[in-house]
Amino acid sequence: MTSMAAAPQAAQQTTFESLDPATGAVVANFPVHTADDVRRAVERARPAAAWWRELGFDGRKTRLRAWRSIIASRLDEFAELIHRENGKPVFDAIGELSIAVEHLDWASGAAAKVLGRRRVGSGLLAMNQSASVEYLPYGVVGVIGPWNYPVHTPMGSISYALAAGNAVVFKPSEFTPAIGKWLVDAFAEVVPEQPVLQLVTGFGATGNALCTAGVGKLAFTGSTATGKKVMAACAPTLTPVVIECGGKDALIVAADADLEAAVDAAVWGALSNAGQTCAGVERVYAVASVYDEFVAGVTREAAKVRGGADAGADYGPITMPGQVEVIRQHIDDAIADGGRAVVGSPDSVQAPFVQPVVLLDVPEHSVAVQEETFGPTITIAKVRDEDEAIELANASRYGLGAAVFSAKGGRAIAERLSCGCVSINSAISFAMVPELPFGGVGDSGFGRIHGADGLREFAWPRSVTSVRFPAPLKVTTFKHPKSARVLVTRLVKARWGRGRS
Ligand code: NAD
Repeated sequence: MTSMAAAPQAAQQTTFESLDPATGAVVANFPVHTADDVRRAVERARPAAAWWRELGFDGRKTRLRAWRSIIASRLDEFAELIHRENGKPVFDAIGELSIAVEHLDWASGAAAKVLGRRRVGSGLLAMNQSASVEYLPYGVVGVIGPWNYPVHTPMGSISYALAAGNAVVFKPSEFTPAIGKWLVDAFAEVVPEQPVLQLVTGFGATGNALCTAGVGKLAFTGSTATGKKVMAACAPTLTPVVIECGGKDALIVAADADLEAAVDAAVWGALSNAGQTCAGVERVYAVASVYDEFVAGVTREAAKVRGGADAGADYGPITMPGQVEVIRQHIDDAIADGGRAVVGSPDSVQAPFVQPVVLLDVPEHSVAVQEETFGPTITIAKVRDEDEAIELANASRYGLGAAVFSAKGGRAIAERLSCGCVSINSAISFAMVPELPFGGVGDSGFGRIHGADGLREFAWPRSVTSVRFPAPLKVTTFKHPKSARVLVTRLVKARWGRGRS
């Protein structure tokens, strides 16, 4: 057996260690599951899925709410583990858990209404029949997660997939396997009978194996580059996928914005979690008339924020060591392209920590504006008016979220943004609302977690019609009367012909 820390993976490696990103101390040791291991986990999950489905919406709700209560009751213990393995401050871990349990509670309660059988109108042509639709679980769902929100993010798929009646095989990020194990172990306490939620651990190859192990659906959250590989791996078997990828979210400051609120949201949205937030604020477009005052506010407030491992730090280390170089390169390129830092400098990058960097005058073509930085940095650009802000915000291959600050025009601006989620006069609030679907367009992916759409993502619709009485005019037969052609023609013309609106 060989053992080493997460990434890069050595050939024939059979175990790996997860590390505290702030200190390098070993948190835990995990197996690198092979393709055979993963296939066996999926096979074990099949009868478990059938058993779980038979529990029905009410039976599953009881178990899922018991799981919710375990997570909530042991919040401190779990938050400490998240702090150690992911690096974020304990308070941030508690915040993450609080959102995750809200979603779990909502999904378990709403599943019956959203997915249960419901009657729909049968229309004129089938007026003699009843029509209904119900949403059935896929069976076994594979969930591949990232490390930045190691609970909230995968739980956006896991909670909803379980509530819909699926069993789940979960592969957490190689940087946060102990957090994944905590979740799975807690679930086993409330569902001891069957392996309804299983853990597989390892690197990209283990994730790839999950894509090809015969799951009914695959929910992926991670980078766009990996999302494309996941989709390609699922294509030969037409395994459906949900792809939740990165973003380059913009914050727009309109002329009538509450500047104090906009500054606070921009600083928190860009720097919290060390900027390692898929829907974090990475770009700001501020209208010329308020630009100077806004920049002064961000400069003042961002300078007070500090990354570190001590209890007083506002955010923690960069969790994935390789990301530090990406952040450094974005800052260097921005400055080489003519940008200037009003808070921080290239020296703010001191692995594993990166202190806040606020960049002005960065050309739109720079990587710092085009690519996901995933660090505690922000670019602020001066724009002529709201129209130019919208145009530049939309000129991105990503389209996950956005924020708009405006006293009166927030909704009108939001309606013109090409992205999946918008917060007006706040940042990232949409992720906290269980009933709102979350996801993106373009390189940010497709499909939705959260809300009714998130439940339907993990179930397939089955439509049923049933004859209630003989049709006055039956057209689905070779035995229709000769008069049928005339009658149907008259009917269609009367109902839909010219003059009808
Ligand atoms: P990543 O793409 O490197 O890894 C994500 C997961 O995919 C990990 O579990 C990894 O082991 C696995 N993986 C790697 N190669 C694979 C392969 N070939 N086949 C299958 N699985 C494979 O991403 P990351 O660094 O863990 O996460 C950060 C990224 O996630 C950022 O881009 C961030 O924006 C994004 N993210 C998106 C959302 C969202 O909801 N849209 C939420 C959180 C994070």
